[in-house]
Amino acid sequence: MLDKLREIIQAVEAIDDNKQAINHLVSATKQVMACQCSSLYLLTQKNTLELAASDGLAKNAIGKAELAIGEGIVGTSALKQELVNISDVRLSPDFKHLPQVEEDKLLSLLATPIFHRRKLLGVLVVQDDKVRVFNSDEQSFLITLAAQLAWVLNQLDVYHLQHSFNNNHFTGLGVSPGIAIAKASLFDGTNDFSIELKKGASIEVETSTLQQALAECRKLFGQWRDEFKSQHNDSGAQIFDSYLSLLEPYSLPAEFEVQLQQGWNASTAVVNAINQVSQQFNEMDDAYLKQRSLDILDIGKRILQHIYKDKRRINSKEPIILVASQASASMLAELLELPIAGILIQEAGIHSHLAILARSMAIPMIMDIGNGLQHIHEGDQLIIDGEKGELYIDPVPLVFKAYQSQIASLKAENQKHIDSLDYPPVQLDGQQIGLMLNAGLNAVNPLIKKKSVKGVGLYRSEIPFMLADHYLSEDQQYQYYKKVIRSAVGKSVCIRTLDAGGDKPLKYFPMKEDNPYLGWRGIRISLDHPELFLMQLRAILRASVYANSVQIMLPMVCSVSEIRRAKEYLLQAKQELITEQNLDFSHIQFGIMLEVPSLLWQLNEVLELVDFISVGSNDLSQYLLAVDRTNAAVSNLYQSYHPGVLKALAHIATELQSRPDKHLSICGELAGEPSGALLLLAMGYRNLSMNPNSIAKINYLLRKIDVKQWQQLLPRVLACSDAEQVQKLIEQQLQQSGMTNLMTS
Ligand code: PEP
Ligand code: MG
Repeated sequence: MLDKLREIIQAVEAIDDNKQAINHLVSATKQVMACQCSSLYLLTQKNTLELAASDGLAKNAIGKAELAIGEGIVGTSALKQELVNISDVRLSPDFKHLPQVEEDKLLSLLATPIFHRRKLLGVLVVQDDKVRVFNSDEQSFLITLAAQLAWVLNQLDVYHLQHSFNNNHFTGLGVSPGIAIAKASLFDGTNDFSIELKKGASIEVETSTLQQALAECRKLFGQWRDEFKSQHNDSGAQIFDSYLSLLEPYSLPAEFEVQLQQGWNASTAVVNAINQVSQQFNEMDDAYLKQRSLDILDIGKRILQHIYKDKRRINSKEPIILVASQASASMLAELLELPIAGILIQEAGIHSHLAILARSMAIPMIMDIGNGLQHIHEGDQLIIDGEKGELYIDPVPLVFKAYQSQIASLKAENQKHIDSLDYPPVQLDGQQIGLMLNAGLNAVNPLIKKKSVKGVGLYRSEIPFMLADHYLSEDQQYQYYKKVIRSAVGKSVCIRTLDAGGDKPLKYFPMKEDNPYLGWRGIRISLDHPELFLMQLRAILRASVYANSVQIMLPMVCSVSEIRRAKEYLLQAKQELITEQNLDFSHIQFGIMLEVPSLLWQLNEVLELVDFISVGSNDLSQYLLAVDRTNAAVSNLYQSYHPGVLKALAHIATELQSRPDKHLSICGELAGEPSGALLLLAMGYRNLSMNPNSIAKINYLLRKIDVKQWQQLLPRVLACSDAEQVQKLIEQQLQQSGMTNLMTS
């Protein structure tokens, strides 16, 4: 049975066409279960169960026959959320006769609901023409099949299966927020590397062709980098900087050289080498590094274009929504002069550079819309909603108008938020609120200059280490820290020491662990490698001379002794530099991230050793809830508003109230969420560090709230038994104070 089950699942997974996949599923199930009929009902957006595939029921009922939840035996299985085993449907009070399915001869029925992470996807049914009770083996087969099928169906996205039968509305994943309405412009963004492999005429000729193409590519990437720097932002510039470093002679060109030496011509040398290197990236476990394989392909494709002197252009003066199955950051850069209103890429990634660029340029972007791409034609009117991940193709006037007015109000709201950053910092109860930026990939952000922004509350120093292919030298690190510190003239900058490990491996530092989140990571690595730690401390201290206030922060601390030892190293680094260069470090503050729960109960001892604490609510939640923050299978359990998490956060704020000499801040994602920020303020947090995309909205929101109301609500929030109750209370409070609009805009 197990083999059969595996076979069915693998076959369904392997079939590209969704309809064919579910047709195969029902036929194979019918065969294995040796019965007369097997059917799959899928949940529609109207919350009904629609017959999506059947081997045994009337073919023309497929896509038409429909049951409400609770209606008929199939609907009852969905409602009760359990297996239903009926030996003779004629005797069941739940039976509902649907003439169009032609099931008069089918007497016994076994149905099981299909759930994916508590979400009902549909019902899987088998029926037979004999009166019989399906035995326990058959029951467990169907249940197991349904449970495994849920993963596959979820990937196919059951809504898209439904839509392929009827309408023009698809739900994918929002990657960059905002709404765009414009005509579709189809773009061939595939990284197609299928060229004819050929030997070269002579190594000199091929080398010279390749060198010329490389020189042109370097020029192009350099132009794009400068263009991003002057007109857009630094994250785009950094991407093309990294492209340029991949074109340094020791990097990709060295691989091309190996191929040329084997006698291949220039284009084949590029294709062979790029395929090899991108494959190596693709095999990496880390999602971020995996997606770098797309960058390698992108560079390769660009070099080929120059070898072939091939140029592809989209010309449009009207705003367009760029639609492609795949695309890369450099393609977006090439299209910069086009009026791109939105982007729809089937196979992008939240971590992809394209997504990072879209977010940094505030272009709405969605991805992964199932089979929706097949329904889009050049010039179709599209609406994409980058927040909810929705796509409408040629929407009806009602939907069109609704989105148009939403865009208008979003624009006005957004401008108000941005303008609010020019005001002096918010004061609450006579205290100044410090809003700060989290930085790492975008080391320099123009928002840092705004009056309301206090500084950089978290610089994730591991990001440059992750992008490099070797451990960074003291000087290289110094350059990075100097850059971020100098960008924040007169403001404070908090640099976190290397937080590698867990979901942030360094490819040149092999760490194979069964449980990396509980393993060798953060400060543990630094303390095990004093030579590396001292190098980083020296680099930060040297760069700190460019600022009035620099904080050095340790990540993932779990015990007081780690703080003591790190402090000794800091002292050593300071003394060395004072002796060598006579530098002044009186403005340096030393502190830790509070993200490991053990320290919640040792705050007094911790506070004796540090100047400040910054709460890392992302990891603190992960460790309090025992939920891996990157694991999609348990993402519904990663609840930042879990009362247990909120109580821990409130406990920290209360403890720190009796220590006004110590600085408290929070730099997890919660601080940048409107509801999170309000609760944190009510708890007593006065320094919030967040993702740059959130800061304008939070700054605006804080100017509108009455913090006393939230302080009064807090005890009730902390007394809730679960996160849903907390969310409900917050919603009620927002409604009462007429602030619901503020939270969603
Ligand atoms: C945190 O854990 O809350 C945090 C800010 O650090 P990171 O997300 O980088 O782990
Ligand atoms: Mg953390």
